[in-house]
Amino acid sequence: VGDQSTLWFRSALLADGWADDVRIRIVDGRIAEIRRGERRGDAADGGEIALPGLANLHSHAFQRAMAGLTERRGADPCDDFWSWRAQMYRFLDALDPQDNQAIAALAYAEMLESGFTRVVEFHYLHHDPKGAPYANPAQMGAGIAAAAAETGIGLTLAPVFYAHSDFGGAPPTGGQWRFVCSIDMYADLLAASERAVAGLSGAVIAVAPHSLRAVTEEELSALVALAGDRPIHIHVAEQQGEVRRCLEVHGRRPVELLFDLAQVGPRWCLVHATHVEPSEVSLIARSGAVAGLCPITEGNLGDGVFPADEYAKAGGRFGVGADSNVRIDAAEELRMLEYVQRLTLRRRNVLAPGPDTSTGRGLFEQALKGGAQAAGVAAPIGLAAGASADIVSLKADDVHLVGRRGDPVLDSWIFSAGRSLVDGVWVGGRAVVHDGRHVRRSAIERAYVRTVEKIL
Ligand SMILES: [Zn+2]
Repeated sequence: VGDQSTLWFRSALLADGWADDVRIRIVDGRIAEIRRGERRGDAADGGEIALPGLANLHSHAFQRAMAGLTERRGADPCDDFWSWRAQMYRFLDALDPQDNQAIAALAYAEMLESGFTRVVEFHYLHHDPKGAPYANPAQMGAGIAAAAAETGIGLTLAPVFYAHSDFGGAPPTGGQWRFVCSIDMYADLLAASERAVAGLSGAVIAVAPHSLRAVTEEELSALVALAGDRPIHIHVAEQQGEVRRCLEVHGRRPVELLFDLAQVGPRWCLVHATHVEPSEVSLIARSGAVAGLCPITEGNLGDGVFPADEYAKAGGRFGVGADSNVRIDAAEELRMLEYVQRLTLRRRNVLAPGPDTSTGRGLFEQALKGGAQAAGVAAPIGLAAGASADIVSLKADDVHLVGRRGDPVLDSWIFSAGRSLVDGVWVGGRAVVHDGRHVRRSAIERAYVRTVEKIL
């Protein structure tokens, strides 16, 4: 018998619905047994309301330290993604592996405090500031793994392949030298990344062609071959400028091109997929791939609006990602996703799964399934026997939850209260957030402050 513990919750959203007085027995980080309608007995008090933890399916952790530094318009009245990217490149020029680790640790602590229990780190900063590979090609990725170990968040590390500055294989430009790999270098990076996460329980390595701008057709095929059965993540159709260039060079839109070039299926996560025609919406939905939606960042960058209503009606799968980490809040990502649809369509409860059903519950369960699929987490997921014990508890005595039980709890968390409701968080059965605060927050904050003061 391995490492055992038992948690008791007053109510819990189990894989088959809400239940009261729930005892969850955990063995070696996994849920061994769930019993309902039981007294607490000798179990530890987990808290009032238990939810399964969500996966944050897209993160660039280092960008957390830039949050709030790009909210000033330059001389160009048409400030957009591309001017933001120029500032982001200047920022990342200064980062060394330790800086990256310190920033990621704070971002991951905040993710845990907001209800995310796993992160997919779309990691493209590989080489030293001059663009030379480190002796260990996964030196920067090892910093990400160390930040995951320090905070306890589940990690899906997606080392990014990046080789070109534009469609048609254009050479990389200044600001991109720290990302650039050949396919041979990438194969070494992938192996080194596997070694970097070897000590992390439940870690997954994904393969990430950056985008169709940064990868040629031949390189994409080579990456898919290298991926084997790993998840594959790619940015696609985030920007209208990107769609225009793709049409000029390839005569097809990015999502169309991707489906022509690769057998896109459930292992794939199409990050953003913002600018899609109805035919592309149905291509993605039918493929079983996950659309990786990042509503707060897409709003911050002025990207555009993904047609989530049409996509959901076609049976499309989605999850949410904090992407630039300008704000880190699982509930707020779900709220923003729904609100953008409401503002666009001038309707309410757009993403509710059916008549007289809770929008919050629908959003949460889609993001739970889609996030786990994209992160490469094997079934079962959620609060069910056999799943990893990734649990988030909410404070039922918070004023925002007075008189709520069941689905209205999710609706109130998502649409009213946000991350202040999160009480305790366990990943693989290990308590990492207590009373809404990461257990190592003070030390993590100190290292973060030192790092950012040095960089700025
Ligand atoms: Zn991204």
